[in-house]
Formats: sequence, C-alpha cells, structure tokens
Amino acid sequence: MGESSTRRLTCLVCPIGCELRATVRGQEIVSLEGHECPRGEAYASQELFDPRRVLTTTVRLCSSEVPRLPVKTSEAVPRERLRAGVQAARELRIEPPVRRGDVLMRDVAGTGADLVATRSVGDNGGASSESPKSRRTPRSENHAQAS
Ligand code: SF4
Repeated sequence: MGESSTRRLTCLVCPIGCELRATVRGQEIVSLEGHECPRGEAYASQELFDPRRVLTTTVRLCSSEVPRLPVKTSEAVPRERLRAGVQAARELRIEPPVRRGDVLMRDVAGTGADLVATRSVGDNGGASSESPKSRRTPRSENHAQAS
C-alpha cells in the first residue's frame, strides 16, 4: 500500500460549506472528517479523483450590436477538458437570433456535454425557427467564405 496524505476541501454542495479533511491513499479515501451529511463523502470523492466544473465562456456573434453571447456547458465537465472546451467555443460564430437554452454545440471537446446559450439575442429575445446547429459556423468555414 502507498503512503497516505491529508487533503482539505470545502464542500460546495450546499451553502453550509463544510470543511472536509480527507485522508487519501492511492485512489481511496480511507477516512473523512468534517462532513455533516453523506453528500460530503460523494463530493470529496468526486473532487479528489474526478474533479469537474461547468464551463462558462462566451462565443462570437455575427452581430455588430451584441458581439459576444454568454454560454455554458449543460453539465459539469472534467476539469482537464476545460481548456479544450474554451478553444472549441472560440471556433464558433453564431448568427442571431438565439434563444436562451439553444444548443450551440454538442459533445463539447469530447466531454459529452452540450454548449448552450445562457441569453437570448435578436428577435426581441424570441424563438428562432432555424436550427441553432445550422447556424454554427466553424472558423475554417468563415475563412473559406471570406476569401
Ligand atoms: S457535507 Fe452535507 S451539509 Fe456539509 S456542505 Fe456538504 S452537502 Fe452541505
């Protein structure tokens, strides 16, 4: 068996924010202190061995009035994939109108999560009859059209 180490975490599952103290050996928590409910155990395990975050960023809009659209992933993604997700979002050019909740990209950077709009833009924020996916324009296509 390998050496054990102590890790301190703040549980973010609920506003209480318990301060957790985990003794870890390999890929196992051998003891946990400070949690007031079982959700703290699940949180510590996830955070220590498979940390995930919801990616929030912006994508470019083909609009002079509103140049950027705030977006986020539909679920938390592995932390090591965040940079790749931001890069993928950077490649997008979205044509308004966009409705809050529209899926702009599926399976962002191979995470299984979708990239969704968190704001409505255009048509007074109303619905679009056009598929959001069909409005997705990778940068390479943009360059091809521009030349
Ligand atoms: S351990 Fe339970 S009570 Fe404490 S912050 Fe996490 S979810 Fe809340």
